[in-house]
Amino acid sequence: MSRNIRTRFAPSPTGYLHIGGVRTALFSWAFSKKNQGKFILRIEDTDLDRSTPESVQAILDGMHWVGLDYDEGPFYQTQRFDRYAAMIQELLVAGHAYYDYTTKEELEAMRAQAEAKGEHFWYDRRWRPEAGKTLPCIPEGIPPVVRFKMPLDGITAWDDLVKGHIEISNHELDDLIIARADGSPTYNFCVVVDDFDMNITHVIRGDDHVNNTPKQINILKAMKAALPQYAHLPMILNESGAKMSKRRDAVSVVDYDRQGILPEALLNYLARLGWGHGDDEFFSMAQFIDWFDLADVSPSASRFNHEKLLWLNAQHIKNTADDVLSVMVRPRLHVRGIEEQEQPALANIIKLVKERVQDLNQLADECAYFYAKATPTAEETAKHWDNDAPPRMLRFAERLEALNNWTAEDIHALFKPFCDDEGIKMGKLGMPLRLAVCGTSKTPSIDAVLALIGREEVLRRIRE
Ligand code: GLU
Repeated sequence: MSRNIRTRFAPSPTGYLHIGGVRTALFSWAFSKKNQGKFILRIEDTDLDRSTPESVQAILDGMHWVGLDYDEGPFYQTQRFDRYAAMIQELLVAGHAYYDYTTKEELEAMRAQAEAKGEHFWYDRRWRPEAGKTLPCIPEGIPPVVRFKMPLDGITAWDDLVKGHIEISNHELDDLIIARADGSPTYNFCVVVDDFDMNITHVIRGDDHVNNTPKQINILKAMKAALPQYAHLPMILNESGAKMSKRRDAVSVVDYDRQGILPEALLNYLARLGWGHGDDEFFSMAQFIDWFDLADVSPSASRFNHEKLLWLNAQHIKNTADDVLSVMVRPRLHVRGIEEQEQPALANIIKLVKERVQDLNQLADECAYFYAKATPTAEETAKHWDNDAPPRMLRFAERLEALNNWTAEDIHALFKPFCDDEGIKMGKLGMPLRLAVCGTSKTPSIDAVLALIGREEVLRRIRE
């Protein structure tokens, strides 16, 4: 019987939640959901110099914001030091690991020698116990590191679910340090113990870890663990084809929130980076889970395309319920100093304007003038506001005031007769009217806008 699928996302909390990390988490999450498995969050915080509580929080917040829910965790490696220490002892006792008392000076000498010969530096395994070999005398006052006994011959191989068959000669593997001289466990070792203890069946992670995999496989074998399957995901490059960098690119999920990207749109976009389902561009996470298969993940790097993200974002805005969008727009109005009022209801405004925008900031801008008239730009004023405009707007206000039913249709019905009476084209009414009421000429149908703003407020704004 196959094991229950268990995947994990294991970020190191040394900065922010990176967009590449979110894509890794997404694929791991989708794979577990698709297979009725469990998705586990593990915080790899053993690098005490670089891990910060703020960064842990950024990861938790980021995961929450994108909506990638985990079934277990967060587990913290720093809370598992006893377990790592116990496992190191087990490997020592079983003869899979050994104490190494090599001094810094000796290591330097080995390194210098290798460099002089133009060779790769290897630890010469002088402390590795072998049958018939006499080990050096244990020096005094040197706290040893613990090294893992890598196999000396043969190959380590796995069938990567994304990259295909990968193998490496064991000659290329050093006897890895698994515990430092102060007893603290090292990175690759913690990952292995965790994947083992957490019963991870599928390790889905960035392909920057391909080189770690043979080391990890050999440790797992020594621990008599069932090997997980590996899927190494290719990198996401920026639009110029370079590695995403904090300086040039939006790389933290918070940046996308700030840009007004919906979490669903970001996930939809990230799903399409390196994975595809025919020509489908716009889809929900439920569809993604349904369609997702690691076999369809491309083994080569993909490029970020901001235009496409914005296009998808617009689709998601159109497809998101107005009251859900209200919740997202509200804080954005607040930052703009706009006070939401009962009338018009924010959801009704959103319904009217949401087809016009690509992100939530634009959406907030489009909602803002319903509550407080914007200040028209000099350009717009010059273009649409002449000396005839003020008296004409006042004359139109009278017709609005006299209207029986305050509906978009009835307001609309006023336009033609008014323009005929004034001897003007519709543009000479519509544009100044927009400026007078909204403070911007860029609005949806002005009849619908006026209907929503309400008669009293419309008249007040025109007469002001
Ligand atoms: N902590 C590693 C990282 O942030 C991931 C390790 C793994 O997935 O095995 O890149």
